[in-house]
Amino acid sequence: MSNYDAIVIGAGHNGLVTAGYLAKAGKKVLVLERRAIIGGIAATEEIFPGFKLSSCAHLASGFAGEISADLGLKKHGLELLPLDPLLFAPSQNGAPLVIARDPAKAAQDISSHSKNDASQYAAFCARLKTLEDFLRTLYGLALPDKASPGDFNPLELLKIGLKFHGLGDKEGYEFLRILPMSMADLLHEWFDSDLLKASLAASSMLGSFVGPRQQGTAFNLLHHQIGESNGALRTAGFVRGGIGNLTAALARAAQQFGAEIRTAVEVKKIITKQSAATAVLLANGDEITATAVVSSTDVKRTFLQLVEPTYLDPHFLLQVQNIRARGTVAKINLALDSLPRFKQQASQVLLGGIVHIGPTIDYLERAADDAKYGRYSKQPFLEITLPSIGDPTLAPAGKHVMSVWMQSAPYNLRDANWHDQRETLGDTVINLIEAYAPGFRNSILHRQVLTPLDLEQTYGLTGGHLYHAEIALDQIFFMRPVPGWARYRTPIDHLYLCGSGAHPGGGITGLPGYYAAKEVLKDLKSKKS
Ligand SMILES: Cc1cc2nc3c(=O)[nH]c(=O)nc-3n(C[C@H](O)[C@H](O)[C@H](O)COP(=O)(O)OP(=O)(O)OC[C@H]3O[C@@H](n4cnc5c(N)ncnc54)[C@H](O)[C@@H]3O)c2cc1C
Repeated sequence: MSNYDAIVIGAGHNGLVTAGYLAKAGKKVLVLERRAIIGGIAATEEIFPGFKLSSCAHLASGFAGEISADLGLKKHGLELLPLDPLLFAPSQNGAPLVIARDPAKAAQDISSHSKNDASQYAAFCARLKTLEDFLRTLYGLALPDKASPGDFNPLELLKIGLKFHGLGDKEGYEFLRILPMSMADLLHEWFDSDLLKASLAASSMLGSFVGPRQQGTAFNLLHHQIGESNGALRTAGFVRGGIGNLTAALARAAQQFGAEIRTAVEVKKIITKQSAATAVLLANGDEITATAVVSSTDVKRTFLQLVEPTYLDPHFLLQVQNIRARGTVAKINLALDSLPRFKQQASQVLLGGIVHIGPTIDYLERAADDAKYGRYSKQPFLEITLPSIGDPTLAPAGKHVMSVWMQSAPYNLRDANWHDQRETLGDTVINLIEAYAPGFRNSILHRQVLTPLDLEQTYGLTGGHLYHAEIALDQIFFMRPVPGWARYRTPIDHLYLCGSGAHPGGGITGLPGYYAAKEVLKDLKSKKS
């Protein structure tokens, strides 16, 4: 007799989603988390006394609404807050770009940069939204998989075919044409203004080594805009109390359904007998048995560290080793005495959404070039949020927290190491913001710099990759985590994957955890019958 129906390794948001669904279905579930707190990279931490920072992820715009409804997350305290305005992009030597929530107001603001762009903006957002909705439907397709031959239901394809047909000829062709395109080419078809194009191109680069001129970056943008978005820009995604309140709500829901969650407990090994997972071995030497072991840690960690490699086919191991998962993002967390004031910024309320730094497509491309050749960019693109503007509970009265996503900081530095470069990188980012917002430096009370190496060492991300593996057309659908293993099962019986390294990938969507739970439940059910 096993101790549990399922052990979930890791209490990041996906592990908690899986645990919630399994427990809701009446399974006896144990979640084991190596850190002292839950949340994984969706955690809020009081890094500096009195200041609560979403230490890694800052926006949960992609979180699936059906998961929230199924698990009753509202009741457990989850509240998503709007971005308002959607975007503020300062300029060093001209007018900033503001994109309001209200589409008519947005068009009016954009017209001060380009009348043509103002007239195109709404149609562009609508086009992308249609394509993203279709991509989201495709993500839910149960994919053909080696672990379940004969289990692929051709009716699924028919359903998708009908949906594709429902897009209509024009949108259908556009989906097929746009998916492999470069974001730069797509934007050049629609817009003139450099600052608008660069602001919209930014989310096509997130977590990736490539710049917006690379083929396939349009797909990256569609992936990142699924959820609370107008198609081109995220419209909501702050979580009241910080992103950790999303994972706290997930944990409360799972516990209410009966799941047990233990923190500060590291799994050292997944124990297998006759090529089936049967138990986990903890760092303290304890062994806990389960009918199913579900890993939310990244795929490389799961197969190259937790599983005894002799149980794995060398070809599968090679595929796992070849997963592209080299980190390229650094995070800077700041406690501020006051809000920054950017050049020509008309009012402080303009900083309530995403503040984008990165003036042109060329600028973004050059930043990506640096990362490709092993240097962190000295002129990086920054995605900045100041969540304490809409949620003053995050900082002492009158003070603020600032979260800075810095793109193009490669895990492997060619001529230096991250221990020496951590604070220099922090200075680079501060100097860059200072150039747009004179006096900003003097408002900083505390700062924390997380390099890709820190993301690996503190948050357990192999290679420091924030999505556990790059999101790209060749690492999604039936190719994620590796070709042929897209339905959460693995070459080891009763061992499943449910983290961001599984289909449909990273970002705070909950989708890998949700789809994995369905497959695990199917197997647990058939085991009983
Ligand atoms: C700096 C940064 C910024 C980001 N910003 C955003 C954003 O704004 N919006 C967005 O949507 N996404 C963002 N992301 C990506 C997003 O946070 C991730 O894709 C997502 O949170 C991953 O969730 P997960 O549950 O799959 O994995 P994780 O959160 O990585 O969870 C895995 C868990 O497993 C635990 N673990 C590992 N090994 C063991 C072991 N041996 N034993 C027990 N436990 C173990 C880890 O400690 C961790 O808690 C960001 C990521 C980073 C790093």
